[in-house]
Amino acid sequence: MPEKMTTVAEETNPYQNALRQLENVARVLNLDDSIHGVLQKPKRELTVHFPVSMDGGGTRMFTGYRVQHNTGRGPAKGGLRFHPDTDLDEVRALAMWMTWKCALVNIPFGGAKGGVVCDPKSLSPAELEDLTRRYTTEISPLIGPDADIPAPDVGTNGQIMAWIMDTYSMHRGHTVPAVVTGKPVSIGGSEGRLDATGLGVVLVTEEALKRRRETLDAQRVVVQGFGNVGGAAARYFHRHGARVVAVSDVRGGIHNPQGLDVPALVSHAARSGSVLGFPGSDPISGAALLELPCDILVPAALQGQITRANADKIQACMVVEGANGPTTPDADLILRERGIEVVPDVLANAGGVTVSYFEWVQDLQSFFWTEEEVNQRLARILSRASAEVWAAAETHKTDLRTAAYAVGVGRVAEAIRIRGIYP
Ligand code: NAD
Repeated sequence: MPEKMTTVAEETNPYQNALRQLENVARVLNLDDSIHGVLQKPKRELTVHFPVSMDGGGTRMFTGYRVQHNTGRGPAKGGLRFHPDTDLDEVRALAMWMTWKCALVNIPFGGAKGGVVCDPKSLSPAELEDLTRRYTTEISPLIGPDADIPAPDVGTNGQIMAWIMDTYSMHRGHTVPAVVTGKPVSIGGSEGRLDATGLGVVLVTEEALKRRRETLDAQRVVVQGFGNVGGAAARYFHRHGARVVAVSDVRGGIHNPQGLDVPALVSHAARSGSVLGFPGSDPISGAALLELPCDILVPAALQGQITRANADKIQACMVVEGANGPTTPDADLILRERGIEVVPDVLANAGGVTVSYFEWVQDLQSFFWTEEEVNQRLARILSRASAEVWAAAETHKTDLRTAAYAVGVGRVAEAIRIRGIYP
């Protein structure tokens, strides 16, 4: 864990946090200084500025990024975020975390991430399509099935992946499904991909509970974020016997200590655009939701949610990170001192990239698997990665984050060492 406390601005800078986490793991692994130096820097960063024709006439300029952190173990892999607050440091951090995540679950990818500074909800479908196609064109020198494969993240979805696939394919003159994952099944997407991250969160939680000789049965779960990850996680928690007592989205939260009827809530949110106003629930602020007494807290929205400002008020027994980077290193320290176990992002939400890997493999082979096959393989990989994380925690006598990063960083370092420094 980090040794020094930071200023508030530093505490929520995701790239600074990713670097602190790496520094900590480098110490634990006794990592060679030159390899540590390679891993501190993203391999490639591209910033693009581009115009989009707006419905009302005229054009508006947008800024986007694509960062490849490391490709030592294979092509770069990572999501694409459309959000008004995204910036280069956020994308750098997310790319670095992707490198460790892919290595931890032992799939042959490096790490990358992309972002466009925009509010997708304020764009018309035509504007969103134009923005996606132009951004794809601008980053096309970097992406490709052997080079860098985007996927959905906050603010993007299967439709946006379909536009990326189509744009890239138009430029090549033939269809290239493997350039992107998280596509609809009708154009080469994988069965199970839509739910994979949320299902993975639940499978990894079960792995964590197994080590306490507990099951999900009747555990009280609080989920922050009701999008691709949080929404699916809530559904699977409910289906696997847990009691989902509170959920939130960007507009606020809802609470029912007896447990929410999650399938009905999913329909309500799809109809109304928010979890708010769900019959039989009480409203609760997003901040208060994080501090509810519960067994399992699942932050599944954005990074920097559990900080040193609220870490001492968290009342969960266990935090399972559906989002990337929701707990700052300072908060990690506090939770650890308070005996609250944190199941880290690189393990907890790795189900998404794992099934993205399956999608890429299926696309390259033009041979597709059933949802049952996908989910069986997913469960096997997450169970193996979980075992490796708990074993590493034992070996290094550390918390789970340090252990998970040690497994991931160790594999990347080994790839760099064995490949050598070119030329
Ligand atoms: P999404 O856009 O589908 O959903 C985000 C959800 O968070 C929405 O419900 C939104 O309303 C809510 N939200 C935003 N700000 C909030 C706030 N301050 N408080 C409460 N809720 C808030 O995004 P997603 O794909 O579900 O991604 C969520 C997190 O999971 C991100 O950190 C992302 O990097 C991570 N992640 C996503 C995937 C994936 O496959 N989509 C995989 C691994 C990790």
